[in-house]
Amino acid sequence: MELYADWHTHTTYSDGRGTPEEVVAAAARRGLDEVAITDHGPRGMFIGVKEAGVFLKLKKEAVRLSGKYPVRVLVGAEANVIGMSGELDLPREVIEELDIVIAGLHPQVWCVPWWKTVTWILPNQVGRAFPRVRERMRRVNTVALVEAVRRNPLTFVSHPNLMMAVDLDAVAAACAETGCAMEINAGHHYDRDAVVRAALRRGVPLVVNSDAHFPATVGEQAEGAALLEKHGVSPEQVLNARS
Ligand SMILES: [Zn+2]
Ligand SMILES: [Zn+2]
Repeated sequence: MELYADWHTHTTYSDGRGTPEEVVAAAARRGLDEVAITDHGPRGMFIGVKEAGVFLKLKKEAVRLSGKYPVRVLVGAEANVIGMSGELDLPREVIEELDIVIAGLHPQVWCVPWWKTVTWILPNQVGRAFPRVRERMRRVNTVALVEAVRRNPLTFVSHPNLMMAVDLDAVAAACAETGCAMEINAGHHYDRDAVVRAALRRGVPLVVNSDAHFPATVGEQAEGAALLEKHGVSPEQVLNARS
C-alpha cells in the first residue's frame, strides 16, 4: 500500500526533537507528497505547546516551507481530550484554522475541572501496572473519547487504545457516525490489529502515521501499511493511501 502523506509529527514546539524545517526536509527526503506538523495541545504535562497561538504561528511557517521544499506542508494539532464531555485543549477559533485536527487520550494532561486529573488521569497511570484498574477506567475513557468524536470536527483519533484503554467498537461506532478516521500509529507498539478489526466492522476510514518525534522517523509508516495489507484493507478506506 503506497502512502503519500504523514499526518502526525511533532517538533520542538512540543516534545519533538526537530524544528518544523527539519521535519519538512525529512519528509522531502522520504519522497512524501504531504506532511502535517501536529504538535501536542497545551494541556499536555511537559509535552504540550506553550500556548494555542503557536499553531497560528506554525501556519505562516508552513507557507514558507511549502515554497522551499517539494512537499505540501499542513498544520494540525494533536489535541488532548481533557474532560468527560469530550472537551479539547484548544479553542474553537484555533481548531477552525487547522488543516488536520487530531484528538487523543494521553495519561499526562491537566483536565477541566482540575480534580479530574486526580480522579481520571491518575488511575489511568496506575492502570498501566494494574490490569484491573485499567479495565475499570476503560468505560470512563470511552465516554470521553466518544464525546470528543461527536462534538469536534476531527480528522482522526490518534492511537486509540494505547496507554488509555477504550472500547474500540464504541469508538468506531462514533467515528462511523461523523466520518472521523481511526489511526494506525506506526510509532508505538500496541494491539493495532484490534483497531483495524473495529474499523473494518464499522466501515470507518483508517489513516497510517509515524507519530515521529525525530526528523529521522518522519515517514516511517511501513509497519502500519503492512498491517493493513495483512487485514486486506483496501486503499480506498485509508485516507493517506494512493488508490
Ligand atoms: Zn499521542
Ligand atoms: Zn503524537
